[in-house]
Amino acid sequence: MNKKLLILGAIILVAGILMSIAGSIMYESDKEHYNYWYEYYIDYPDETAFSNVTEMYESNMNFDSAFAGLGILLVIISFPMMIIGVFIKEKKDNKQPEQKRHCPQCGRPLQMDFDICPYCGKDFRIQK
Ligand SMILES: [Zn+2]
Repeated sequence: MNKKLLILGAIILVAGILMSIAGSIMYESDKEHYNYWYEYYIDYPDETAFSNVTEMYESNMNFDSAFAGLGILLVIISFPMMIIGVFIKEKKDNKQPEQKRHCPQCGRPLQMDFDICPYCGKDFRIQK
């Protein structure tokens, strides 16, 4: 299990859900404004202002749906991320480069955590 990938997947999932909710709320709001303008100001004397406003809401609605769509995309990619996170193993960062140590008595290479030389039996704890 890879916790980092799982957490990242979960963050992306939550962000994606929030983005799609926010995008649909903004879309509905812009659509309402757009409809309001369209119904009540269809005979608006200043046609340029009317089309400017409706065009603005139209482009807002495009942005909102793109935003929500991006959120849905994030939700979709978060699942394989979390699934992969469950199945792949976490990289162990505590892999220190092995330092070489040699037994002062027999000269054989030893692991750092050895207290007693496995070859000649010299006890290193005494001479520290
Ligand atoms: Zn030794």
